[in-house]
Amino acid sequence: MPAEEATPAIVLRTRDYLESDRIVTLLTEQAGKLGGIAKGAKASRRRFEHRLEPFSHVMLYFRRRPHGQLVFITRAEAADLQPFRLEDDLGRLALGAYMLELAEALTSEDAEASGAYHLLAEALAALAVGAANTALRQAYELRLFRWAGFGMQFDRCRVCAETQAGPAAVYFIIGRGGIVCARCRERAPEGGIRLGAASAAALVELGGMPLADAAAATAAGADGALAIARFIASVVDRKLRSVEFLDSVIAPATRA
Ligand SMILES: [Zn+2]
Repeated sequence: MPAEEATPAIVLRTRDYLESDRIVTLLTEQAGKLGGIAKGAKASRRRFEHRLEPFSHVMLYFRRRPHGQLVFITRAEAADLQPFRLEDDLGRLALGAYMLELAEALTSEDAEASGAYHLLAEALAALAVGAANTALRQAYELRLFRWAGFGMQFDRCRVCAETQAGPAAVYFIIGRGGIVCARCRERAPEGGIRLGAASAAALVELGGMPLADAAAATAAGADGALAIARFIASVVDRKLRSVEFLDSVIAPATRA
């Protein structure tokens, strides 16, 4: 029998299986993204203590199965891991669900994802104690995409490389993951999404700060949100189910 492994993990998604089992998708610190089956999860309080729900932060014990995609989850404990308490607030639930779904979309099984685990933990911890707002959402999006190798850049023109810190608008080019200045825009055939200077500056700030501080920072306006959303859609090859609800609960400010 394969050895039992243990790792801190955050539950991304669950579904019931047969009468008493549960299939669980988790983002772990040590073992990347995992799908596992928890036998008797709905009945065994001793082994699972109802801790295998989305947002659960657990010490996961599991064994790999030689011929199965799903690992066999032996138990899950709270240990001394920080719980993420979001349950009483619609905004927090909406943003939290989106954070889970985005983390799932950007990670793959059998690939290291310790950085994504830590970002998700940091984001959910910030969400549990602070506001569920656009600034935290944008900071998480920027940080998670940078972790995945899709860093977006908002302060330097992708063509002439000049730093853009002035009052002029810039243009976000989805295919380049970055901006071009007004002068270079004419030579960039892709067009681009117009970003006001304030939104571009806000995204530079948000991308470089700890997630614990993000909710108190200034968010980019609807132009910045559109640029990020289009970029995400170009990278993630699936429709994110949680976005529509999130957008209906937390909307970015419209900015001139
Ligand atoms: Zn330029």
